[in-house]
Amino acid sequence: MTMDARKQRVLQAIVALYGLEGEPVGSSVLANYFDMAVSSATLRNEMAALTKLGLLEQPHTSAGRVPSAKGYRYYLDHLLTDDQPLDRVTRARVDAVFASLDHEPEKLAQGAAKALASISGCTAAVSTPCAEDLCIAHYEVVQVGERPMPQRKQGEVLVRMRAATLNRVDLYMRDSGAGIRHQLPLIMGVDGAGVIEEVDAQEQLLKPGQRVVLYSGVTCGRCEFCQHGEPVLCTSMQTLGEHCDGTLAEYISVPAGNVFPIPEGLSFEEAAALGVNYLTAWRVLFTKAQLKPWETVLVFGIGGGVSLAGMQLAKAAGARVIVTSREQHKIDRALELGADAGICSSTEDVQKRVMELTGGRGVDIVFENVGEAVWSTALKSLIRGGRIVTCGATTGDQPGADLRRLFIRQLQVIGSTLGNPGELQDLLAWCAQGKVRPIIDRVLPLDAIHEGLDLLERNQQFGKLAIAIAD
Ligand SMILES: [Zn+2]
Repeated sequence: MTMDARKQRVLQAIVALYGLEGEPVGSSVLANYFDMAVSSATLRNEMAALTKLGLLEQPHTSAGRVPSAKGYRYYLDHLLTDDQPLDRVTRARVDAVFASLDHEPEKLAQGAAKALASISGCTAAVSTPCAEDLCIAHYEVVQVGERPMPQRKQGEVLVRMRAATLNRVDLYMRDSGAGIRHQLPLIMGVDGAGVIEEVDAQEQLLKPGQRVVLYSGVTCGRCEFCQHGEPVLCTSMQTLGEHCDGTLAEYISVPAGNVFPIPEGLSFEEAAALGVNYLTAWRVLFTKAQLKPWETVLVFGIGGGVSLAGMQLAKAAGARVIVTSREQHKIDRALELGADAGICSSTEDVQKRVMELTGGRGVDIVFENVGEAVWSTALKSLIRGGRIVTCGATTGDQPGADLRRLFIRQLQVIGSTLGNPGELQDLLAWCAQGKVRPIIDRVLPLDAIHEGLDLLERNQQFGKLAIAIAD
């Protein structure tokens, strides 16, 4: 295709996408496109959104217009001239354009996907043309660099970090961090393990050189929840890597109550994995859902860290576990690791299969962190009086409530996240007995943090993505 023909197609796609048919489009395609752009309220709004995202220069607002089309030129130039797949930053910029279009991101993203797919040589931008994929607007905000050495205060432990694992909240912090009070720059990383470098001289239980895993919540110890033995509900909890500097660093200083000795035989990476995903799964199953060994648990989205932890812990407790995934190879891995049955949700009807596998009874507990996409199926898979425990909402957090089903079948919906230090201690004891060993997908060096976050975002891992921090 000639360049002119491609330009023409890009323009047509954009006009169709934005519903600008009938607006003046002249012969000098791009120039007139930008003339048109500044006369269209829709596009003006987008320009404002792009400015906010830092993709455009500050607009000159004197005439109530946005004359700079730098972002659009960048976007179109790359789309028009680059026959190679779009690089990550360019693609993020393209995504940002579409993400800022309207209040109906889903519809627009689909339109965007269609429009872009029609442009030859640009299919890399829509290799996964789903709304979620197109609407994530992020840039290389994550950098590996030097930060000041943390100053240990009395009562704290200075830990030389050796490993951390990636969690979905890291993506959230990278992409927005909205609603979580924090200041940039912020060291990422919520879980982690390392070696004690320095403690108070009078410290009884901990000593330098000890291998430790971190509990990621720094709590106040004084609020009603802390005092009632539920510090995980602390009203002023500071989570590492969210509210304060995290674990993806050479050193961190945390209160002594936040470090726990690592059982023999666990690597730093495996120990790090316990701090968030395995702890969350522990609380979900044992504290919240009160799992009994004779019960059946349905775990959605096997392969993700917390789902896999849920499967392993439920199996270790003696329960029967059914797992689901859209990918058969992940189910195969889960079956190898002890799952009793697997349902491939891209080819099978999950609810129907659950009923077949349970003799029409349904499962006692649904272990759920996928959210909206599976919520309805999850509720319908439960036995009367069954419990659904949610600890994540990757695909959306506003599913239909299905209240009639809830009360008629007397279902329980339980929310949970993270766990208490005491629960981490129990989990560590199980690990010491060899009942559970975290699954590590792969170990990457700190320099490969972007690769790790991208893998996590694309959900390509099976188990935890670990980051090793050099000794
Ligand atoms: Zn508290």
